[in-house]
Amino acid sequence: MNLGKDELIAGFERAGLRNRRCIVHASLRSLGHVDGGADTVAQALAEIATTVLVPTFTYAPAAIPPRDDRPTNNGCDYDTDRLGDAHPTPFTLDMPVARDIGAVADAVRKLSGAIRSDHPLSSIAAVGDNAAGYVANQSWDEPMAPIARMADDDGEVVHIGTDYTSCTTAHYGEIRAGRRTFIRWAMVADGSVQRVRVGGCSAGFNALAPYIRELCETKIGNAVVRRIAMQEVIRATRAAIAENPMSLACSPTCARCRDAANGGPD
Ligand SMILES: [Zn+2]
Repeated sequence: MNLGKDELIAGFERAGLRNRRCIVHASLRSLGHVDGGADTVAQALAEIATTVLVPTFTYAPAAIPPRDDRPTNNGCDYDTDRLGDAHPTPFTLDMPVARDIGAVADAVRKLSGAIRSDHPLSSIAAVGDNAAGYVANQSWDEPMAPIARMADDDGEVVHIGTDYTSCTTAHYGEIRAGRRTFIRWAMVADGSVQRVRVGGCSAGFNALAPYIRELCETKIGNAVVRRIAMQEVIRATRAAIAENPMSLACSPTCARCRDAANGGPD
């Protein structure tokens, strides 16, 4: 199947995306062939939704933790984990999105009118109504603040061929469950290394599925497209954690999942 912008817009309409504020997690490949690729998907999303938010995370700025600042319970083993580079790349607003975040997020950040935050590891980009407000809400210490704000505005999570392992909103649900975000270090635009906060491991987030009621599930091209209220993701994350702090862990031995279950860094 060949998808053009018109087919994508019709599909997003069917999925109920018109006039919604949403954070989008998309797999371009899942759709099948799209004329114009990720740029077409980004344009169609921006045209139909009121506001589109995407994670535009980057890993190249990650720096080695300083010797004199090594908090415990921080989701890492300082002796064996490679948490950053001795010569990191300074974050800049035009730095491409990490490959595992996806081409659609990278295309959204490049749309005319899109705005991106300056968190060196967990930046976000937004386009549409109040895009600047959502982006400005983020700080290096509060990477999930834009999600908190969009959730208050009845925002939704949209998965396009992706599962809950990409669901950034569940990280905000973890914060609401009382967990502290992890501390990392990264090089910012001026070349200095800064202490920042980041979300934890999401590899076990598919365990949320039985807790979540979706608003809509449909197919566009070959992709399964799902909409879920952000508040529902937050409620489900808190419920799963309340039932068992390790319920969203990817494995019993994952340092990030273990330390998150313990509440995060001290
Ligand atoms: Zn894990």
